Amino acid sequence: MALAFDEYGRPFIILREQESKSRLRGIDAQKANIAAGVAVSRILRTSLGPKGMDKMLQSPDGDITITNDGATILEQMDVDNQIGKLMVELSRSQDYEIGDGTTGVVVMAGALLEQAEKLLERGIHSIRVAEGFEISSRIAVDHLERIADKFDFSTTNIEPLVQTCMTTLSSKIVNRCKRSLAEIAVKAVMAVADLERKDVNLDLIKVEGKVGGKLEDTELIYGILVDKDMSHPQMPKEINDAKIAILTCPFEPPKPKTKHKVDIDTVEKFQTLRKQEQKYFDDMVQQCKDVGATLVICQWGFDDEANHLLMHRNLPAVRWVGGVELELIAIATGGRIVPRFQELTPDKLGKAGLVREKAFGTTKDRMLYIEHCANSRAVTIFIRGGNKMMIEETKRSLHDALCVARNLIRNDSIVYGGGAAEISCSIAVEAAADKYPGVEQYAIRAFADALDAVPMALAENSGLQPIETLSAVKAQQIKENNHCCGIDCNDTGTNDMRDQNVFETLIGKQQQILLATQVVKMILKIDDVISPSEY
Ligand code: ADP
Ligand code: MG
Repeated sequence: MALAFDEYGRPFIILREQESKSRLRGIDAQKANIAAGVAVSRILRTSLGPKGMDKMLQSPDGDITITNDGATILEQMDVDNQIGKLMVELSRSQDYEIGDGTTGVVVMAGALLEQAEKLLERGIHSIRVAEGFEISSRIAVDHLERIADKFDFSTTNIEPLVQTCMTTLSSKIVNRCKRSLAEIAVKAVMAVADLERKDVNLDLIKVEGKVGGKLEDTELIYGILVDKDMSHPQMPKEINDAKIAILTCPFEPPKPKTKHKVDIDTVEKFQTLRKQEQKYFDDMVQQCKDVGATLVICQWGFDDEANHLLMHRNLPAVRWVGGVELELIAIATGGRIVPRFQELTPDKLGKAGLVREKAFGTTKDRMLYIEHCANSRAVTIFIRGGNKMMIEETKRSLHDALCVARNLIRNDSIVYGGGAAEISCSIAVEAAADKYPGVEQYAIRAFADALDAVPMALAENSGLQPIETLSAVKAQQIKENNHCCGIDCNDTGTNDMRDQNVFETLIGKQQQILLATQVVKMILKIDDVISPSEY
């Protein structure tokens, strides 16, 4: 498409290869866009909530992903339609800002689009609809602020944080171990959190996975994890207060780079050479010992002779450690990477409270734990699980939980989950509608109806009667003036989400409403779609 000007300076549009482009205009374009957006949100609707279904997605090269996470589903789905892509973007921005609530935001946007279509059919102009939605989203966000509860947590009392993370994890495959995983997530975040500035650098939390074991074996390591083992099986498996020499030079005699020839024609000469070589090794080990190293981490390998000697001289060593890991170890332990033995000095050694080697299963699989490092609060979450898909999904679920914990440290307000917050907002928006004399009123009422979509989907996914359940809960909220009533998805007998400990973060919920409204407004404002026509 190009914009050109005629001789009087009036603009006109030229469509290149006009006949090969298709063009939808006006209400048709809006309806087509709405239909595309709704189609995407329908797919996610069944994944919402603790009883939501999982999706299995196969990538073009055959990799399988099983997930419940909205952002991941959309990311992998390869959506073709442009409006569909906007929904993908929507889910991604929720993931980026908040981390959790990626399914909910798309369901919410889909419901808004459905309502908008009804309004358009009644002849209300899309701008009016968009304005009405904007007003209602502000009402809803303010209302959330009012019904939000603050809770107290401290480094000693992390229970409230754990409860909120458990709500996030309850909708995932890993909900079998949600308690322990939530605790791990909260402890990890607390370990790296800067409570004064109320900020958390999630980069300091590394999430590693290894196939094998059970999900219950997942653990939090206050330090870093290296997929390597001690070079000799008889070296000590545990070193306290380790002083680590981090070397990028090999334990071997120097090799001259020019061509050389050694003539050995007598036994004596051979003996001298052997002695000479041995002295090299001896010196190297001695240099490490002299500066006080109790552990050597080496980028290169060393042969059996050196290995034997290291064991003999009681200097544990790890070989073939990759460059990236070496750097990480150096940063965490406050050490320096040393390229020559001559340059080793005591102040270049890294320090760690405990270095230990741990074996897994019967496979002789061993890993090295470097804990209580001098310089860094970095922690590692080490996930175990039956297969790769499980580990990947656990990583994604933990990401959600970590984000929720971080959000709570930034802002310690919560609202109640299970649709309670949405129902309460719906009532508030509905009540506010009467104050608006114009046509917006209809859009505001429609917004209130759209808010009901989340609790309705939760009920539907849990096998309850959606409309009956929703109206009962709504009636209860109004009668008891209790904004904690939500959908009792797990059939626990009470629908008071305060008793069930189902919490969500305030900023997460607000963001959902704001983002969903924004996207829907954007879609409504498109009235001309020009695209290459299909062959
Ligand atoms: P999202 O990707 O949007 O976070 P989830 O599948 O995690 O989607 O579902 C989140 C929804 O499930 C939220 O509305 C939350 O309030 C609700 N929920 C989570 N746990 C429970 C529970 N135990 N009872 C009722 N609702 C719950
Ligand atoms: Mg969630």
